[in-house]
Amino acid sequence: MHLRLAAGSTIELIPQFTGLSKNNRDDLSSISHIFDRQFHVCGFGRFGRSRGLCSFRFLFSEDFACGMTSVEVDGEARGNNGGMTIATPERYREMLESARRNGYAYPAINVTSTQTLNAALQGFAEAQSDGIIQVSVGGASYFSGQRVNDRVTGSLAFAAFAHEVAAKYPNISIALHTDHCAKPYLDGWVRPLLAHEAVEVAHGREPAFQSHMWDGSTVPLKENLDIAEDLLDLCAKARTVLEIEVGAVGGEEDGHRADIDEKLYSTPADGIEVARRLGLGERGTYMAAFTFGNVHGAYKPGVVKLRPELLGEIQREVASAAKTGKLYSDTNRGLNSSVTEVSEGRDALGFDKSDDSDSRVVAPLTASPSVSTPGYTDTDLHDDKPFMLVFHGGSGSSKGDITAAVHYGVVKMNIDTDTQYAFTRAVAGHMFEHYDSVLKVDGEVGEKRYYDPRSWGRTAEDAMAKRVVEACVELGSAGKALK
Ligand SMILES: [Zn+2]
Repeated sequence: MHLRLAAGSTIELIPQFTGLSKNNRDDLSSISHIFDRQFHVCGFGRFGRSRGLCSFRFLFSEDFACGMTSVEVDGEARGNNGGMTIATPERYREMLESARRNGYAYPAINVTSTQTLNAALQGFAEAQSDGIIQVSVGGASYFSGQRVNDRVTGSLAFAAFAHEVAAKYPNISIALHTDHCAKPYLDGWVRPLLAHEAVEVAHGREPAFQSHMWDGSTVPLKENLDIAEDLLDLCAKARTVLEIEVGAVGGEEDGHRADIDEKLYSTPADGIEVARRLGLGERGTYMAAFTFGNVHGAYKPGVVKLRPELLGEIQREVASAAKTGKLYSDTNRGLNSSVTEVSEGRDALGFDKSDDSDSRVVAPLTASPSVSTPGYTDTDLHDDKPFMLVFHGGSGSSKGDITAAVHYGVVKMNIDTDTQYAFTRAVAGHMFEHYDSVLKVDGEVGEKRYYDPRSWGRTAEDAMAKRVVEACVELGSAGKALK
């Protein structure tokens, strides 16, 4: 057990939730056993499996977290998302790790409304797949209402709605994510969200989102990674995962256009630079979108040439550099020392401990330095998948390219265009088919049951859900919802 308390410490744990299943009770009794009579256990926080370690959070009755620690539990610990559908930070890492190890990926579905959000949930539930639901900067603003047009308000409204309705799908886990945040939007979108989440976490609650993307593809790599380093620290405090992008995705998204040229292909040298600057998990969990010819939007065949094998080259070269020590051997960068320094300030899940530790109460609580830092440095390197990769512009890609990309370590594939089309195609079908009923033609009054937004809304949601199921099947996440 990697937890020490000073003699005489008295801590009362308060339950985070009440619906303990039988398995939970078993787990609870093993925890009580470990803790013996040092303090009274009347409940526990989130409980997730991570390489044989169970991680959970202690809460004081004053309602603030005193930090995360890891405790080895006899026997096999069972993963548990605490009866929630929106993934806890532990569950999300478990999801991503499972996808990487077992060679599948999660569809990340962009939504812009409660209808499309419900459609995404419906699709994931039908596919018995865990998944990711995300909002773009424009989608977040739209969520807040056109007059309000505020991306932070819209993001939080989306997350609040999602947390509420997702709870009705108990057999899947869903992570919420903010998509492309370019430099001009950082201060007005992702940074305020991270600050909000850090406060929630400091009060023992879950963050609103489970991950955020920083899109530094339009700035030089050095600046991209300077900002990424800073955000990775903020993500640790917010217990969220960072997604970065290296190289440019072509095409159009949210009204932003990017050229289709050689910048669409990132290089193994880019990968090595990313690993040097951000570590391979020991400084905090992140996903990386290395571009391999990706474009947003739908293109006719032949316009875009995807080279998923480039992802394999990046993974191989970075894994080899890490194994041979080359990754950190460049002393000019001084990275060896900085990485060690940072990992000492982190708990076993890569979270920053210093913030959670409150000296008034927590001073006696120290995590043993022997806690293994998962990072992704040991076994993962044997798999030659040091990075958890993201595939942008997944809509319209060939089955072969998708399979290859997942094989090389893609764990998240963004899908927007195809689900947009599925939704709108169904609406168009309804309108054309019931033209005389949805419109008041030639002095007639139309038919309410056809222009009631629910009538075309249900059809559209079903169509979009069907496309989500297809994505789950294609990416191999169908039927693999974590228990
Ligand atoms: Zn994208």
